[in-house]
Amino acid sequence: MNKARTILIKNGIVATLGDANKVLYGHAVLCESKFIKKISPQKTFRGKYDKVIDATGQVVLPGFINTHMHFYSTMVRGLGKAAPSANFQQVLENLWWRLDKKLTLEDCYYSALLPLIDAVKHGTTTLIDHHASPFAVTGSLDVIAKAVKQTGLRASLCYELSDRDGAAIAHEGIDENVAFIKRCQKENDDQLRALFGLHASFTIGDKTMERAAEAGHALKTGFHVHTAEAKSDQDYNIKNFGMRVVERLHRHGILGPMTIAAHCVHVNDREMELLSGTGTAVAHNPQSNMNNAVGVADIIKMTKKGVLVGLGTDAMTVNMLEELRAALWAQHLSHDNPSCGFMEALSTLAFNNAKIANRYWNGKLGAIKEGNLADIVLIDYHPPTPFDQNTFLGHLCFGLSQSPVDTTIASGKILME
Ligand SMILES: [Zn+2]
Repeated sequence: MNKARTILIKNGIVATLGDANKVLYGHAVLCESKFIKKISPQKTFRGKYDKVIDATGQVVLPGFINTHMHFYSTMVRGLGKAAPSANFQQVLENLWWRLDKKLTLEDCYYSALLPLIDAVKHGTTTLIDHHASPFAVTGSLDVIAKAVKQTGLRASLCYELSDRDGAAIAHEGIDENVAFIKRCQKENDDQLRALFGLHASFTIGDKTMERAAEAGHALKTGFHVHTAEAKSDQDYNIKNFGMRVVERLHRHGILGPMTIAAHCVHVNDREMELLSGTGTAVAHNPQSNMNNAVGVADIIKMTKKGVLVGLGTDAMTVNMLEELRAALWAQHLSHDNPSCGFMEALSTLAFNNAKIANRYWNGKLGAIKEGNLADIVLIDYHPPTPFDQNTFLGHLCFGLSQSPVDTTIASGKILME
């Protein structure tokens, strides 16, 4: 890890993203310690710098953000489903719930370290994770945090509480969330954040949900919860609780601007309005949803209703540009329209993930902007057509996504060069 205090990035095309969203030519970016110190015309930089990066033939972008991830799931890559699964419930029972029961604390550490290293290679510098290891709950978030610290990236962690393994493990899940949230609040380390993790409405009874809500509210934290991922989640909640998933979460006070509802594939208009009205963020995970055959979330309608929709990968990848492309294709296919959803899909990664992450990182992420944390990615790219702020998103989806990441910087440290 390079520990240069000042890094000057010159000769690249700078795509700032953020509110300003400019494409700048002839500009250089100066990083000083953890922050972006200055962005201005290249000729104005005449000082001595610890490190100068020549970004000729490259686009300079803010580091990518993943708003829904499961580090531990990457442990079974290549294994396939352990048994044929006819629906989402069987995918959970045959694969994920068999895996997570086996995880030890050591497995949790390595299963985080591997995708984090992969994230560096793909320019993803911030990840919002959702962790499960029911027979190694206590201390699991600390060992994952150790891997996050070692790789130099930043992550928000939570433990996915559920009733599926009995009351004792559910209690442990609450305690693990509480302990890690308290740790993060005390340390205020900008590499680490915490949310209160809930598996899903169909694996959490009212008693546990109440206790979790109470503990979360006492700590003034948001929640991270799988929400109406499959239609079976809605069926279960209607049958057992007499209400739909989002309504139930709302009744328990789980929704709000600090909460992330992952998936929201099967939400109706009223539920979209509840998400929008409470400011709850949605993490859209198109590749996972298609792989599990649960459907495609209508992010066009959600956006129209004012829901903030970000992009996660649900552990399918840490390559956010791959997920971005899938998001666009999925809207085209599900709406039977090759011209719909471009801004809605592209905005998830380009703008909305930063808006979501900035709720936890105090507005310092997701843009090449003076004063922001220096999370910067350089991608090799020779645009074959005009490249400016009006064409940037098209280049991002169809061109930049096909180019290798050359350099990844997080908090002003060069993690890959
Ligand atoms: Zn998930």
